[in-house]
Amino acid sequence: MKRITIAIDGPAASGKSTTAKLVAQRLGYLHLDTGAMYRAITLGVLRQGIEVTAREKVEAFAQAADLFVEASGLKGNRILLNGIDLTAEIRSPDVTNNVSTISSYQAVRAVLVREQRKLASEGGIVLEGRDIGTVVLPKAEVKIFMVAAVSERARRRKKELLTAGIEIEDEEIVKEIEERDRKDSTREVSPLKMAPDAIKLDTSNLTIEEQVTFIVDRARKVIDAGGNA
Ligand code: C5P
Repeated sequence: MKRITIAIDGPAASGKSTTAKLVAQRLGYLHLDTGAMYRAITLGVLRQGIEVTAREKVEAFAQAADLFVEASGLKGNRILLNGIDLTAEIRSPDVTNNVSTISSYQAVRAVLVREQRKLASEGGIVLEGRDIGTVVLPKAEVKIFMVAAVSERARRRKKELLTAGIEIEDEEIVKEIEERDRKDSTREVSPLKMAPDAIKLDTSNLTIEEQVTFIVDRARKVIDAGGNA
């Protein structure tokens, strides 16, 4: 049976990670959270004391970095940078507030996109991010673009942060989400946008189960048709 690639893109806090992980589990596929890779480079840069606006230094750091991602579909992704496990720390507000600057740098993207394509080369994987369907895997057999109202995304983000023991005012969360979306969609290199052949999935009023079922059903149809539905 053909093992396809599935691209899930969308704005910040649209529910991509939870959905992608569950879709991967149901299909017995790997799951790659590409945002975690940009976050890990950002944390590395911050820890080295490099200014995030010092583009050339950041790019040199990314090019020399040894990034290891365990793209397991069973747990969330485990991510190591230069041998250090950063899985928990990459979710900190400091990283969240700086990641969009770093992800706008061409050389940073080139390094990470190369790695993402390598991990996806055998198929049987769900990739989530901002540019998967447009740039990383333009030939992905299933492309989903997830959207949700900003109020709903803020509600979900708040819950996620509280679980991680981080408390942030609602207003702050909305501001952070809107600012990141603005930066991610207006950058020159690989901006966040829907691929023309992607299916738009508005999750504002859907449960996780409904989102997952929708994508898994679509994937199974494509798999049954030999990858061409
Ligand atoms: O998905 P997540 O919100 O963790 O992504 C963090 C950031 O990484 C995004 O706001 C974006 O700047 C960047 N990113 C990207 N391209 C991807 C995935 C994430 O530019 N494919």
